[in-house]
Amino acid sequence: MSAVKIVASIFNLFFPRYCVLCNQRLTISEHHICQQCFSALPLTQGHYMPGNIMEQSFWGLMPIERATAFFYYSAHEVRTLVHAAKYHKHPMVAQHVTQMLTRDMIPSGFFKSIDAIIPVPIHTMRELKRGYNQSLYIAQGISIETGLPILPHAVIRTRYTDSQTHKNVMERRENMENVFRVVDNKSIKGKHLLLVDDVITSAATISSLALELTAAGCSKISILSMAYASPHIILPQP
Ligand SMILES: [Zn+2]
Repeated sequence: MSAVKIVASIFNLFFPRYCVLCNQRLTISEHHICQQCFSALPLTQGHYMPGNIMEQSFWGLMPIERATAFFYYSAHEVRTLVHAAKYHKHPMVAQHVTQMLTRDMIPSGFFKSIDAIIPVPIHTMRELKRGYNQSLYIAQGISIETGLPILPHAVIRTRYTDSQTHKNVMERRENMENVFRVVDNKSIKGKHLLLVDDVITSAATISSLALELTAAGCSKISILSMAYASPHIILPQP
C-alpha cells in the first residue's frame, strides 16, 4: 500500500464520510455517494442519442441543437439526490455524479461542437440564502471532463420568482417571462452554448433563458440537466 493510501485510510478511520443517499459509511475510493446507490440510479440510457424524449419536448417550442438528461426525476433515488444537492448543502454530489456520467458520454460526440457552458442562474437573494448555485456544480462536473469553459456571469436572473411547483404549464411560462438578462454579450456572441440545470420540468425556465441568449446573439443552444421530469417515458429505438 502506498503512503498516500495509508494516510487516506487513517484519515477515513478518524474522519468518516457518509453517502448522501443511504448514509452508509463511504470507502476510501468513494466520494459523496456509495457505489451501491450510484449503481441504483435509473439512467435514461439513450440520453445521448439524437431524438431522445427530452429533445422531443422542445420540438415546436424552440430551436435546439441537442438536449439530454442523465436521470428520470420520477425515481425516488433521483429526487433524493437532487434535493441533497439543491436544498441540503451537498452540491458536490451533483458535480461528482455529473463528472462520472460526462466521462461516459464524451465518445457519443454530444459535447463536440459546444463552445461554453452556462449554468442556469438563480437570483442573487436565493444564492445568498442557499449559499451556492447547484447548477454551477453540475457545470463544473462537465467542464472538468470536457475542458469546456463555464460562463457563470454572462447572464443574470433579474427577478425572484415564486416556486413553480403548484403552477400549470401556461402559468409557469408566464411566470418566467423576461426573468433573465444577458450582461456580457461579447462572451456569448456566435457561440454554441450548453445550458445546464438540475431538473427540467415544463421547460419554462430553460426556454426563457434560451430566448434571451438567442436574442443576445448566441448561435446555437444545447441543454443538459441531471434529471428530466416527464410524464411519459418513451425512448427512441437505437
Ligand atoms: Zn449510498
